[in-house]
Amino acid sequence: MNALAATNRNFRQAARILGLDSKIERSLLIPFREIKVECTIPKDDGSLVSYVGFRVQHDNSRGPMKGGIRYHPEVDPDEVNALAQLMTWKTAVADIPYGGAKGGIGCVPKDLSTSELERLTRVFTQKIHDLIGVNTDVPAPDMGTNSQTMAWILDEYSKFHGHSPAVVTGKPVDLGGSLGRDAATGRGVVYAMEALLAEHGKSIKDLTFAIQGFGNVGSWAAKLIHEKGGKVVAVSDITGAVKNPNGIDILALLQHKEATGKLSDFSGADAMNSDELLTHECDVLIPCALGGVLNRENAGDIRAKFIVEAANHPTDPEADEILSKKGVIILPDIYANAGGVTVSYFEWVQNIQGFMWDEDKVNQELKKYMTKAFHNIKGLCKSHDCNLRMGAFTLGVNRVARATLLRGWEA
Ligand code: NAD
Repeated sequence: MNALAATNRNFRQAARILGLDSKIERSLLIPFREIKVECTIPKDDGSLVSYVGFRVQHDNSRGPMKGGIRYHPEVDPDEVNALAQLMTWKTAVADIPYGGAKGGIGCVPKDLSTSELERLTRVFTQKIHDLIGVNTDVPAPDMGTNSQTMAWILDEYSKFHGHSPAVVTGKPVDLGGSLGRDAATGRGVVYAMEALLAEHGKSIKDLTFAIQGFGNVGSWAAKLIHEKGGKVVAVSDITGAVKNPNGIDILALLQHKEATGKLSDFSGADAMNSDELLTHECDVLIPCALGGVLNRENAGDIRAKFIVEAANHPTDPEADEILSKKGVIILPDIYANAGGVTVSYFEWVQNIQGFMWDEDKVNQELKKYMTKAFHNIKGLCKSHDCNLRMGAFTLGVNRVARATLLRGWEA
């Protein structure tokens, strides 16, 4: 099942549990606005090339819409739609005053030079500048984009609207980016997991962890787990996988990865087949790479007792059912990886205040938001007798539905 179908299914189930009126349900499902633009740029050799850019603005009842912009060859309107909707529920679960959006350009970023990427970003911004804004829609980096992309959007947008640092988040710190943003999603994953484990009378230092993906989210999560005394017994990325039943020295593995560009040949662990990572013996499995990795084929073989969904949509609904029958507890993506958008919110707040927080304050506030959201989700699990995924969906959907109803329907 693709991401859109799975998101719609979870939304409909939450709407049923909440007893939402069909008019509200329909209005919450349909995006507020879908934008599709043609972006033509001269390549470095003088030839012209065109790309299609999308921005889906899903819902703004709780505040400006918020979500990443990705540069990827498979950016398609259906997926962007699902991801925009997920952002609406995610910002509501985290209780930050935003709605949801997502966008992207269908391109292969590694085939473009830096100056071509800059031209493409500027043309895309020219096409959408009057539809985004500090109080309308605030983009952020996603797959294939980074803080430099945000710096170009900020600069291009400011030509039309005056200096507006809060129009994007995930900016370089020199342009108003927040301290702690780089680590925020991985750190939020760890705070979320600590709240879950505490509920089960457990703590990180007593448990073993397997982590799929060693990029931004996976490497920060691994580093923080290691610092807190947890044993990371297996790690994988696109280059391979390594295992050590006594725990991997994550700082040494990070240095090895930095020096060689790969995980293999690390002296502190044995090589293993990447496919085995998900079914490796551990207490907590943390997928931090791709969507759909837990599916009907491998769900029965998962040995972890807890799964913390750091990646977006790592568990397809069939696997969800199999895992739930096995008693595996899943911390869902719309909550577990909300640390990134939460610190993006702090960045926006700092830009609007014109006042910069130190990193300790960012981390303390992040912990507060993640812990509070966990207890809010648990409250709904209790009142609706449902699992954590439905607890999170009902929490998010209910907050958005309430805001929509309070605003009223009159034209
Ligand atoms: P990233 O590009 O920094 O890292 C991705 C990692 O996955 C890399 O280590 C890559 O080698 C690995 N990978 C790719 N294919 C793999 C495979 N087949 N097997 C094992 N590993 C593989 O990306 P990221 O920012 O760390 O994001 C990871 C996930 O978290 C994505 O699903 C993303 O949507 C989600 N997410 C990220 C953020 C954020 O702030 N970065 C926020 C919310 C959700």
